[in-house]
Amino acid sequence: MLDVLIVGGGPVGLFLGCLLAQRGLSVQVLERRSEISGHSRAVGLHPPALELFERVGLADSAVAAGVSVPSGVLRGPGGVVGELGFAGVSERYPFVLILPQSQTEAMLEKRLAELVPGALRRGVEVQALKQSGEHISVTAQENGEDLQLQARFVVGADGRRSTIRSLLGVAFPGRTYPDTYLMGDFPDTTAYGDRALIYFVPGGVVESFPLPGQLRRWVAYTQAPRPDAQPADLTALVAERTGLHVPVNECRMLSAFETRRHLAATMVRGRAVLIGDAAHEVSPIGGQGMNLGWLDAAALAPLLEGAVTAKTLDSHPFAAFNRQRRHAARRAAGQAEINMYFGQPTSLNTLTLREAVFRALLHLRLAPKLADLFTMRWSLKESQKL
Ligand SMILES: Cc1cc2nc3c(=O)[nH]c(=O)nc-3n(C[C@H](O)[C@H](O)[C@H](O)COP(=O)(O)OP(=O)(O)OC[C@H]3O[C@@H](n4cnc5c(N)ncnc54)[C@H](O)[C@@H]3O)c2cc1C
Repeated sequence: MLDVLIVGGGPVGLFLGCLLAQRGLSVQVLERRSEISGHSRAVGLHPPALELFERVGLADSAVAAGVSVPSGVLRGPGGVVGELGFAGVSERYPFVLILPQSQTEAMLEKRLAELVPGALRRGVEVQALKQSGEHISVTAQENGEDLQLQARFVVGADGRRSTIRSLLGVAFPGRTYPDTYLMGDFPDTTAYGDRALIYFVPGGVVESFPLPGQLRRWVAYTQAPRPDAQPADLTALVAERTGLHVPVNECRMLSAFETRRHLAATMVRGRAVLIGDAAHEVSPIGGQGMNLGWLDAAALAPLLEGAVTAKTLDSHPFAAFNRQRRHAARRAAGQAEINMYFGQPTSLNTLTLREAVFRALLHLRLAPKLADLFTMRWSLKESQKL
């Protein structure tokens, strides 16, 4: 009988595994993939998440491996609008850390193996579960064979298409936005160094972030999904909207993505809990989804520790967790919607007006408030409410 069985060894499941192992709980993480996905997704780690990484001894190595972005340069049709600095957002981490998701997952996987060798079981796909009294029985497939496991709690950290959520019969209402994007990684030939860039232009936003290894990620708004796009399509959009030339023949990754917003009707059902993308999907614009999942994990770990040692299940702390984390997810989704709104195609007149408003906001010393918003500073207050 395990204390906690985590389904899904993505960034959120692995992080929860580390937190629980450190608290001395018996834990296993089941992951259907045989290896980490090479598909590049999340790159932004915000200061609240880095503070959480300290708890599992990973903050220093993450910072050493990534690029610390101290500010973002905002540009409009009239040139540079201003620079939003992150110096005041955190004492220890006055920046947004850029680290590709595959590297972050590799780091978490290694740390979990150090804490509990063998806790992560790859190539195991969960297919059924049954709650009965004081435990949950889980059925999985490993190398074509049935595997039966029992745990006091099961955590579904199995992504937006969560099997656990379906097995629990939890609804996942939401919608797909019309906003779509094309993104790609290329050698960095700009003079922007470690700074992020955001171009607000009539055709739609272009964002750019430095990556480790002298690379730079480019993200451009597209009018429709572009699953068959080639690197030249992205570099043409960048050149047309920013005047910058990206080395098209040296593309390291190209991906088109859609944007969605979904929230599970509940994150807790009996002894099963949903966290990360299994519980809430947030548009990637603003880079919050993975960070939000880590905050779920940090809020859940002490509840699970208390519950595995208790004789009877006290549902009150889990109900508070459910309320608070769903509220945080709604807030992150709302923030992402605002980010996307400002990146939509619009007229030159509107952009010129917005440019003036942005300049005034920065001039009025509202920049620290904006910086707090973009670095998920609000999420710390949300966690303290629990
Ligand atoms: C283009 C893009 C850019 C993004 N950028 C950012 C960013 O900069 N910052 C940020 O915070 N977020 C970002 N995100 C969001 C981020 O990628 C997700 O929020 C994050 O991956 C969620 O982590 P997770 O562990 O909850 O789920 P996932 O990463 O989806 O992991 C779930 C895991 O569960 C496994 N699994 C599924 N079903 C089963 C099963 N039945 N049995 C066993 N295993 C199973 C899967 O194989 C997978 O490994 C971005 C997303 C996209 C698409």
